[in-house]
Amino acid sequence: MISGTHLKRKLYQYFTQRAGLQKYRRGWLKGDCPSCGENKWGVNLTLMRTNCFRCKYNDKPIDAIMLLENLVTNNEVFKVLKAFEGIDFYEEAVELYQLKENVTLPEGYKNISRGDSLLACSARNYLIKRGFDIKELAKAGWGYCNKDKYFGYIIMPFYRNGRLVYFNARRFLGDGPRFNNPLVEDFGLGKSMLMYNSDALLMYDRVFIVEGLMNARTIGDNAVSMGGKKVSNYQINLLIKAPVKKYIIGFDHDGYEDALELAIKLEPFKRVKIMPFKDSRDINDLGRKKSLLITAKQRYLNYNELILLKNG
Ligand SMILES: [Zn+2]
Repeated sequence: MISGTHLKRKLYQYFTQRAGLQKYRRGWLKGDCPSCGENKWGVNLTLMRTNCFRCKYNDKPIDAIMLLENLVTNNEVFKVLKAFEGIDFYEEAVELYQLKENVTLPEGYKNISRGDSLLACSARNYLIKRGFDIKELAKAGWGYCNKDKYFGYIIMPFYRNGRLVYFNARRFLGDGPRFNNPLVEDFGLGKSMLMYNSDALLMYDRVFIVEGLMNARTIGDNAVSMGGKKVSNYQINLLIKAPVKKYIIGFDHDGYEDALELAIKLEPFKRVKIMPFKDSRDINDLGRKKSLLITAKQRYLNYNELILLKNG
C-alpha cells in the first residue's frame, strides 16, 4: 500500500516523468489533457485535483492515471505507481561536485585525422583495425598523444553540454598499462557521474546504452557508455530525465542480468529493448552492422515481460 506523502511523490514522478507534465504556477503541473489532448490540463497534487481549461475534464489524479494507462481498478494504478520504486532523483548530489573549469586535453594531443608521422599512422591503423571510421572519430574529438605520460595512447574525450569534462587514454603503442585514465576526482567529477557521450541524451529519440566507450563509438553518435555494467543512480537519473523515448541496452554477454535490471528501472518511463549476445563477442567485435541487425530483430518489452525474463 502506498500512502500520504509517499503517494504524492509517486504521483509527482508519474505526472512529470511519464505523462510529460511541466511545472507551472502555484503548485500546478501542466500538460496534455487525457480527454481532449490539448495542452491545457492542470494537475494539482496538493489539492489532489485536475482540470482542463479547454474541455473541463476534471477527474481526480488517480482516475486520470486510469484513463491514461487504460486501467480499471485503483489497485492497478498503485501497481503502476509502485513501478517507480527506487528511482529518486539526485539533483542535490550533483551540486556536491564542482566541475573543473578549463579542462584541457593533455599536452601533445593531436586530433586523429592530423599528422603523418609514424605515430599518427600507427594510431589510425590501430583504430581502423578495430573497425572505426577515422572521420567519425575525428568529429568526436578522438586523438593520439605524442608526449610524456600519454605518448602512444589514444585520447578519447568526454563532453557534457559540448564542454570537455574528462578523457580516457588507451594504449596503442609501446609499454605501459592498457588504460591510463586520469583520476576522475582531479576533474571535479564523481566516478559514478561519468557517462561517455552523454550529450546524445539531448539529441536523439533513440539511444543505445552500452558498457564501454569503444562499444558506444562503434554504434555511433546515438550511443552512451556507462563505463561498465553497474549503472549508478546518478546515471539512471540522467537516463530517465533525458527527453529520449527509446533505449536499447547493449551490455556484454555476461552483463545480461544487469541489462535486465536496468531495463526494469527504465521501463516505467521509456520504451526499452535489450540486445542479446550469444557469446563473449561485444558490439565492437561484431561491428556496427551486425549489432544493428541484432537490435532490429528485438522488440520493445513491457514491465511484465521484463519481470518474466528476470525470473526465467
Ligand atoms: Zn481537455
